[in-house]
Amino acid sequence: MTEEQERATATGGATVPAGQLYIGGTWRDAADGARRDVINPANGRLITTVAEGGNEDVDAAVAAATEAFTEGPWPALTARERGDILLKAAALLQQHREELAQLESLDTGKPITFARMVDLGDTIDHFAYYGGLAGTIEGATRSIRRPGFAYTRREPLGVIGAITPFNFPLILSTSKIAPALAAGNTVVHKPAEDTPLTALRLAELLTEAGLPEGVLNVVTGGGQAGAALVEHPGVAKIAFTGSTRTGSRIAAAAAATVKHTTLELGGKSAQIIFEDSDIGVAIESAVGGFVFNTGQFCMGGTRLLVHRSVYETVLGALAEAATHVPVGDPLDPATVVGPMAGLKQLENVERYLALGEGRVVVGGHRLDLGGGYFYAPTVLADLDNTARCVQEEIFGPVLTVQPFDTEEEAVTLANSTPYGLAAGLHTRDVARAHRVAAKLRAGIVWINSWAVLDAALPFGGYGQSGYGREHGPEALDAYLQTKSVYLPTA
Ligand code: NAD
Repeated sequence: MTEEQERATATGGATVPAGQLYIGGTWRDAADGARRDVINPANGRLITTVAEGGNEDVDAAVAAATEAFTEGPWPALTARERGDILLKAAALLQQHREELAQLESLDTGKPITFARMVDLGDTIDHFAYYGGLAGTIEGATRSIRRPGFAYTRREPLGVIGAITPFNFPLILSTSKIAPALAAGNTVVHKPAEDTPLTALRLAELLTEAGLPEGVLNVVTGGGQAGAALVEHPGVAKIAFTGSTRTGSRIAAAAAATVKHTTLELGGKSAQIIFEDSDIGVAIESAVGGFVFNTGQFCMGGTRLLVHRSVYETVLGALAEAATHVPVGDPLDPATVVGPMAGLKQLENVERYLALGEGRVVVGGHRLDLGGGYFYAPTVLADLDNTARCVQEEIFGPVLTVQPFDTEEEAVTLANSTPYGLAAGLHTRDVARAHRVAAKLRAGIVWINSWAVLDAALPFGGYGQSGYGREHGPEALDAYLQTKSVYLPTA
């Protein structure tokens, strides 16, 4: 294979950005010249390399973001004018939808059909939604005991450090960047080291949409660059999505400089199938819930709780459905399950299966497909509730299935991990649906469905799944602070 053919195979023909840091409106290499390989998980080949930012680069990015927050055109814009830029960004991203979907699919291994529909659909919607919501940022006049005029102002926080994980690079960066900008902040984004490519292209497109220089900066790099951002005294807030382990370290480090933090962390979400469910809908929801994004989904429905009277029926239908899910080349529109995003993720799933917990109903092994990091959709049954595969986030296409006898037991089992990101239930009984939804300790509950997300609908964690909310007006609030102003009139 010639070098050119090799590159075309590795990139699937997608346009790959030059892997430099974006700081103060210019592209540059890391201060120490370090670079990191970016691998195509569908075939294990090198796509490109990107700059590996370090402390000095984070300092430069925070300095550029601070300057843009205090000087230049950005702080002079009204909220409505900032909203106009975000709306322009939404239109521009729409024009580049296919190109971005290809790049996201290439970098993460996610099936192109989902990248087009879900990743790009949500990303564009973040800019459209917060572009519109920017105009709703307003204070209030307050009636106080003294004579005078008292009012509140809603003001931005300053420089936001956005740190994102590998699994939904565009969605999870723009769910922070769009409300942060709508509120008038400036941003330094540190994308995941394994999947940094769309963050760089996004910075180019937002600049084209009219974002002034220094308002959005991108420092690619590993955990060290993230830690430097968290420790930096010039950063007002850290908006983080990632594992509970890293989130807990970030909360501790951010406390030293009293930073605002929002933490979107791990999950181990339960989906309950009651005996009166529409079993067809429930199975579809259960399969989609654990194979979507190859199980690398914080809100994956990875713990299935099934009423004992329909347990065997559900297990049989799951085995049948999971065996027939199309697994393969992410760039093939028919593919539903692509490779894991990296070898590290694949090996992590293997470690969990090697524990030998429960009975493997289907899957439980790698798939040898073109040198990529593929794992078969896997269903485990007959497990104790204390099993590690039931309690811990595996972050791969692995579903555990447990029976229950009563509604109370189902709720107890559903609430029995330290996490609380999402939950779901299937029933035809409306009163039961709302009663159980109220009892589930999770930031979002889906009834007779799974993973319905929307820019207007807040989500976030209970318990060790974190705190703060993304989406909705709640997310905009999290990038604002309130100032009270008083003027005596007598
Ligand atoms: P991770 O915690 O390993 O890394 C996330 C980000 O943090 C990366 O950019 C990484 O470089 C950075 N980082 C690592 N160490 C750091 C440190 N000490 N200080 C600052 N930054 C640091 O997570 P991951 O493996 O990329 O992603 C998977 C995890 O993310 C899963 O646990 C998943 O549930 C979670 N997740 C949560 C949500 C949600 O909305 N709650 C969404 C997607 C993923």
